[in-house]
Amino acid sequence: MQDIIIAIDGHSSCGKSTLAKSLAKALGYTYIDSGAMYRAVTLYFLRNDIQAEAGSRVDAALQDIHISFNKRNETLLNGENVEEEIRQMKISRYVSEVAAVPSVRKAMVQQQQRMGAGKKIVMDGRDIGTVVFPKAELKIFLTAKKEIRARRRHTELLEKGYESSVEEVMENLQHRDHIDSTREDSPLRQAADAVIIDNSVLSREEQLARALELARQAGATDRL
Ligand code: C5P
Repeated sequence: MQDIIIAIDGHSSCGKSTLAKSLAKALGYTYIDSGAMYRAVTLYFLRNDIQAEAGSRVDAALQDIHISFNKRNETLLNGENVEEEIRQMKISRYVSEVAAVPSVRKAMVQQQQRMGAGKKIVMDGRDIGTVVFPKAELKIFLTAKKEIRARRRHTELLEKGYESSVEEVMENLQHRDHIDSTREDSPLRQAADAVIIDNSVLSREEQLARALELARQAGATDRL
C-alpha cells in the first residue's frame, strides 16, 4: 500500500467535486478543487477590471493573487473567503476565457503541483491527469449526459439561492466545454491511461464504490 495522487477530470458539472470530496474523505486524503483556483483568479480580474487578453496587467496581477483553502475546503483569495462569490454565474460566464490564458495556467499549475508534492490528494479539474500530474497513480475521466449535467447544476444553483434557467445553465456548460476543449494550452482531454466513469445513471454511492475500488487497485488504503 502506498500514498497516491488521484486525478479526476471531465466536462463542466458532471459531478467531479462531489466524487472527489467523498473519495478524499474515505481515503483520509486532501481534496483540491483546481477549478476554484481559476474561479478565484477570475473574481480578482473582474474586481480589478483586468481583461484576460491584457498581457502585462495579467502578469502583474498574478504576482498579487494568493489562493488557498481553509479546513472546510472553502476558497480564500488573498485571505478573504470567496467561496460563495466564485460559484455565481457572473464568474462561470467568464472563467473559461481567463483559464485559457497561458500565464494564468502556468501560475496555477505550479501551485497545484506544490500542493500535491506529498501525495495523498484527490484533485479535480480539466488537465490534472494530462498536465498537472501526468504520473498520477489513478486517473478518472468522469462524464455524464449534457441534459443531466445541466439539470443537476441548475438544481444546485437554486438550492444555493441563485436564480437561473436550465437553458441558461446549459448554454454556459456548452460555452465552457467548447473553450476548455479547444484552447491551445492544456485543452480538456481524456488521458490515455484514464478510466472512464459515466455517472448518468449511477447514484453517488455507486459512483463512490467504483472509484474506491479503482483507488484500492492503484494501491491506496481506505479508512472504511
Ligand atoms: O471545475 P469548475 O467548473 O469549477 O471550473 C471552472 C472553470 O475553470 C472551467 O470551466 C475551466 O475553464 C477552468 N478549469 C481549467 N482547468 C482546471 C480546472 C478548471 O481550465 N484544471
